[in-house]
Amino acid sequence: MAPLTSKTVRELRELLDRREISALELAAAHLDRIESLDEKTVRSLITVTRELAEAQARLADQRLASGDRAPLLGVPMILKDVLTTRGIRTTAGSKILENFIPIEDGTITRRLADAGTVLLGKANMDEFAMGSSTENSAFFPTRNPWDLERVPGGSSGGSAASVSAEFAPFSLGTDTGGSIRQPGALCGVVGFKPTYGRVSRYGLIAFASSLDQIGPFSRTVEDTAMVLNAIAGYDPCDSTSLQAAVPDYTAALQREPNLKGVRLALPREYFSVEGMEAGVEASVKDAISHLESLGAELGEVSLPHTQYGLATYYLIAPAEASANLARYDGIKYSTSLREPGDTLWDVYERSRGKGFGREVKRRIILGTYALSSGYYDAYYVKAQKVRTLIKQDFDAVFEKYDAVVGPTSPTVAFPLGAKTQDPLAMYLNDLFTIPTSLAGLPGISVPAGMVDGLPVGLQVIGKALDEATILRIGHAFEQTTTWHTLRSPVAIQEP
Ligand code: GLN
Repeated sequence: MAPLTSKTVRELRELLDRREISALELAAAHLDRIESLDEKTVRSLITVTRELAEAQARLADQRLASGDRAPLLGVPMILKDVLTTRGIRTTAGSKILENFIPIEDGTITRRLADAGTVLLGKANMDEFAMGSSTENSAFFPTRNPWDLERVPGGSSGGSAASVSAEFAPFSLGTDTGGSIRQPGALCGVVGFKPTYGRVSRYGLIAFASSLDQIGPFSRTVEDTAMVLNAIAGYDPCDSTSLQAAVPDYTAALQREPNLKGVRLALPREYFSVEGMEAGVEASVKDAISHLESLGAELGEVSLPHTQYGLATYYLIAPAEASANLARYDGIKYSTSLREPGDTLWDVYERSRGKGFGREVKRRIILGTYALSSGYYDAYYVKAQKVRTLIKQDFDAVFEKYDAVVGPTSPTVAFPLGAKTQDPLAMYLNDLFTIPTSLAGLPGISVPAGMVDGLPVGLQVIGKALDEATILRIGHAFEQTTTWHTLRSPVAIQEP
């Protein structure tokens, strides 16, 4: 029989409902696997929360015994270490928050706890979610479960790798410019970024507030729909949270993999571009032909401002980050670095100087510059205008189409260290994910091919608040292909 740790959320729920396993046994199976394998393989976790997991699992068992059938009750999971957890260290991958123990749960941490999930640990990430490889973590890089010499993508690399390594059936990450979809693609799991405002960010450590979104990783689209049901919806604590009705996402998935009448747009700008690997392009085109064979109608379109996406993002995101990260001053949240005779200013300087890594400092400097008087209009305001043009590109396409399809990332997972010295090469990873983020749209990456033993992701981008359509498309693809069933070498390793 396949090990418990290889099962999907749906399968685990059935076992729990039939009382064939207890939530406590389930948590233990995952924790044992993590404790015996994570450190010597992928290093996906910064903190393992065994004590909390066991307490939550006992509670879940009580609820199960009393007949509670909440859809995620008893299911183990992992959170990116940027989601605050009461009483549990939350680092955002940074030295400056190395000892930060939040006094309250974020809304999503709490919603998942109320749903009965069991928190196994906090996942490694690029410092403050800045990066595409998880090599910017202040603690250690995470490795790709398909090839330990390669990166898992980022910034939610720990969350993606943990699901691919079968340490948890689902995890949460955050996506500001691609940080769920890109590591999802590189680790061969489903990665889902909801519409901006769909999921509350209250208690999420902010990177770029007009872009950040929380979303799930899982091994099937159906599991992602189940998690989305638990986390989506209005939260009065987050002023950007949308007061829109939330559909039942699992109900939107069809039993029959039929895409008749679904119109898919292929943007010219997402194919045959410089730096795109031929194998990735071929896999994505095959995947799209497959969608056509399920009944979808394809059409070529243009998203003409795509080429300005990266430049726009790298003004707006650092500008917002420079403001958000001003709060880490060595006085609040974390330990201060002070020496005898230090003035307050010295403490700020020492704590921020030692507490932030290179990429974070680079962005604080860039962002402060872009916001400074005299440059604000030339850079920040200009970038906001281009952002509107990028959004209008999508608006025009969505007048005639239901979704946009293309690659998630231009390459498969690259070797550790390959891009750390060249920030611009690193930024190029997000060519196809950043425009969606700038436009606030939902996007999913589903496993859609393999090139030389490494996974390729197909990206499906939807209209604002129309998560249901892209889930349906991803689900239809998954029902008729086997890419998502392939297990990474670390996944098949016995503990
Ligand atoms: N890789 C992009 C960056 O470095 C996106 C990160 C993210 O989505 N958090 O900013």
